[in-house]
Amino acid sequence: MTMAEKKYSSKQLMEMEHTYGAHNYHPLEVVISKAEGIWVEDPEGKRYIDMLSAYSAVNHGHRHPAVIKALKDQADVLTLTSRAFFNDKWPLFARKLSGLTGKDMVLPMNTGAEAVETAIKTIRKWGYKVKGVEQNKGEIIVFEENFHGRTTTIVSFSTDPVAHDFYGPYTPGFKIVPYNHLEAVKKAVNKNTVGILVEPIQGEAGVVVPDDGFVKGLREIADEHNILLAVDEIQTGLGRTGKLFAFMHDDIEPDIIIMGKALGGGVFPVSAIAANKDILELFEPGSHGSTFGGNPLGCAVAMVAIDVLLNENMVQRSAELGKYFMDQLKAMNSDIIELIRGKGLFIGVVLKKSAGKARIYTSRLKNKGILCKETHDWIIRFAPPLVIKKEEIDYAMEKIREILG
Ligand SMILES: *Cc1c(COP(=O)(O)O)cnc(C)c1O
Repeated sequence: MTMAEKKYSSKQLMEMEHTYGAHNYHPLEVVISKAEGIWVEDPEGKRYIDMLSAYSAVNHGHRHPAVIKALKDQADVLTLTSRAFFNDKWPLFARKLSGLTGKDMVLPMNTGAEAVETAIKTIRKWGYKVKGVEQNKGEIIVFEENFHGRTTTIVSFSTDPVAHDFYGPYTPGFKIVPYNHLEAVKKAVNKNTVGILVEPIQGEAGVVVPDDGFVKGLREIADEHNILLAVDEIQTGLGRTGKLFAFMHDDIEPDIIIMGKALGGGVFPVSAIAANKDILELFEPGSHGSTFGGNPLGCAVAMVAIDVLLNENMVQRSAELGKYFMDQLKAMNSDIIELIRGKGLFIGVVLKKSAGKARIYTSRLKNKGILCKETHDWIIRFAPPLVIKKEEIDYAMEKIREILG
């Protein structure tokens, strides 16, 4: 029997991870060894509904057959070339993502944080080369409670002490203002402001939905002062909030769209930014890149992920089922719930302070077969794969009522 074939129990695997893996996460006590659609299974055969979807990277459901087929078919032909050469998939993916976003051009990376870094570099370069701001003086406006990833530059402007502290010296050039507060943004603008970087709905902060018109207001400020508006749609994009992209709730056109997570169809890290030619043409050969960015395997998967999203009406499903789910949650009239908020199948349940820590409830929900994760100590996020059916929401609600009702 090879190592890979030996069966370990959940308990053994959790202990092994604790011993050999760095403790940079605090997972719920469940080991997943199999999955299909909205369902996941542990080594002992207990089944759970996934209500986190890998932070919205699994919007298509686990192992969507068309996505897996694309992965396998491409693996049999070509996987990696680097961008030292052309490959026959990246051009097709670039054209498809350009069509989807309505932007002229696309720059591919792998993880979300890399795409955010790419947006930051783009904004700065545009600031110096186009807007004419003095080099090294450019400022980007960002928001309190933001989450944009884990690189040293990105955590430099995180307001979460756990994500931020002890990683200095920090990258300068970011001005942090309160979220959902247009006056604060206006006040933060000066002659060196080159960009605004925003999550249209703050995911990690606890599905914080700003007032209608907030993103539109940012667009107006950006227009008035010749500033680029970059929207981080890594978690909110590709249908999660009931629109293709969350900025569409405000009916605006951002300058830069940052995508990741579900772009990889739940199987492969694929991220990208999309923008018009006048912006993305600022990159000349050698000025930015990634060995794996634009690799044929990722491109093949991402193209099918986009097709599946559209063909299976996942955006519309998210809007309809999200409303249904949220109505059911609200109808519980629970004594321990302070507030329920969200858009589409992106729902945050804010617990009353008196209820105790959210972790207690996510742990109990897990025991009932519902997997979701707390964000902060008092918020539970429900974000099932967009392929979930109404009957499955009804089934999940029975369990949720037993714990939160
Ligand atoms: C997850 C996330 C990121 C970072 O993506 P990684 O792939 O983990 O690097 C950035 N921005 C938002 C809004 C996210 O949700």
